[in-house]
Amino acid sequence: MGPPPPAAPPAPVRPAAPAAPEYELRRSRRARRITVRVDPDRGLVVTIPARGTIRDAEAAIRELDGWIAPRLIALEGRRRRAAAEAADGLPFLGLPLTLEPQDGRSRVHRTGDRLLVPGDEQLRGPALVAWYRARARDEGAARLDAAAAALGARYERLRITDTRSRWGSCSSTGTISLSWRLLMAPEACLDYVVWHEACHLVHAHHRPTFWALLQEHVPDWREPSAWLRENGTDLRLLLPA
Ligand SMILES: [Zn+2]
Repeated sequence: MGPPPPAAPPAPVRPAAPAAPEYELRRSRRARRITVRVDPDRGLVVTIPARGTIRDAEAAIRELDGWIAPRLIALEGRRRRAAAEAADGLPFLGLPLTLEPQDGRSRVHRTGDRLLVPGDEQLRGPALVAWYRARARDEGAARLDAAAAALGARYERLRITDTRSRWGSCSSTGTISLSWRLLMAPEACLDYVVWHEACHLVHAHHRPTFWALLQEHVPDWREPSAWLRENGTDLRLLLPA
């Protein structure tokens, strides 16, 4: 037996490459180039042209890391905050309602500041959305009727939508659309959006005459408008686990 073989030299230490963030890869026939975005619901989304490769997508992520990283961190923070809030309850016109799961229940029912919700988690989300939609119709219609009457204008119908980036709209045919998600924001936000769209029944543009009319009826419209701009992406229905 000879002397023990010399210990193998330690493997060279390579600087640890930062882990690539998770991303959703989308392939688009219409895309001409690679686009990278941080979506409030889906996280990092990379869209590549039909002939693009995963390698192209990952090269784009590396190249844009300085842009992507802070946005993913901000998104994660917003998700955590929203999830923590949802664990206690869900906001309704800015007030928290406590969720009370009940076995055998299929629909949501509000009693005071409590929301009785299906115990079955599969049913809970859709039942809550249905409940918010119905409330958006009640609350939206009452406000819209009052605003239209005050303006001496009339609308054709109220449509409840699911958009997050567009709280309301007013079509040239007089259909007013409101997102049910507005019902999760403070009440002043719903008032503001209803009045904003109602003023479009009179002025179908954003020229100074439009803003003057809005100002006349909702003097402090700037605050809810800023609130929606700032917090809008948090108005997702996040259900406690
Ligand atoms: Zn507008």
